[in-house]
Amino acid sequence: MRDKIVAGNWKMNLTFEQALQLANDINTWASENKPNAKVIIAPTSIYLQAIQETVDEEFVQVASQDVSNTEKGAFTGDISAEQLDSIGINCAIVGHSERREYQQETDAVIAQKLEQLFNKDITPILCVGEKLEEREADKHFEVVKSQILNALNPQKTENLSKLVIAYEPVWAIGTGVTASPEQAQEIHAFIRSVLNDAYGADVAEGTSILYGGSVNAANAEELFAQADIDGGLVGGASLKVEDFSKIISAF
Ligand code: PGA
Repeated sequence: MRDKIVAGNWKMNLTFEQALQLANDINTWASENKPNAKVIIAPTSIYLQAIQETVDEEFVQVASQDVSNTEKGAFTGDISAEQLDSIGINCAIVGHSERREYQQETDAVIAQKLEQLFNKDITPILCVGEKLEEREADKHFEVVKSQILNALNPQKTENLSKLVIAYEPVWAIGTGVTASPEQAQEIHAFIRSVLNDAYGADVAEGTSILYGGSVNAANAEELFAQADIDGGLVGGASLKVEDFSKIISAF
């Protein structure tokens, strides 16, 4: 059985004090409630170590929001997979649409980031998803398929068993507009079929595919009830323990 996962992407939010408080609150809630889903939080990189020390990894795992596509050296401002590994971080978000859009990250760069993470045994949460105009032109299947194959084809197949994918339609991120459970299920099943055709049944059946884009306490249950939705990558609604814990409890 593949993992059920609810991951909170905190993006560029919260002061240090607020982040520690939220991490503590989530940890307390998870330790008391023992949810069915794995709980992950992804704070700003400068808080990673302190938050890692605050939570109990049995209940809450800490992920980076990004990683460098290179190993080491003269890359001012970047953080390498080795550096994440050296402070005990074993999960990272890769290829979020905000990085594709504002940092011009291409599929080729994202493939390099995946390779860096796999080399250090860090689990990537690979984000894919179409823009509004692509959905309106009925190109969403094609776009998502090429994002996945471009990122994964260069990887060693044995590493793909460690992968998590997040399907996040760009038109649903931070907009309050969520994909309907049927729309999300349709593309999650499609992603699984793409994995099956390219890398075989073990990878297809073993990969957790999360949905992201305006997940909240009110819509999580219906989304997570879909056969191919294995959890959520949650932005805005992960910043309050009341909302985030309700979403985790939707499993
Ligand atoms: P949202 O963000 O839940 O605020 O829409 C999701 C994400 O970008 O991961």
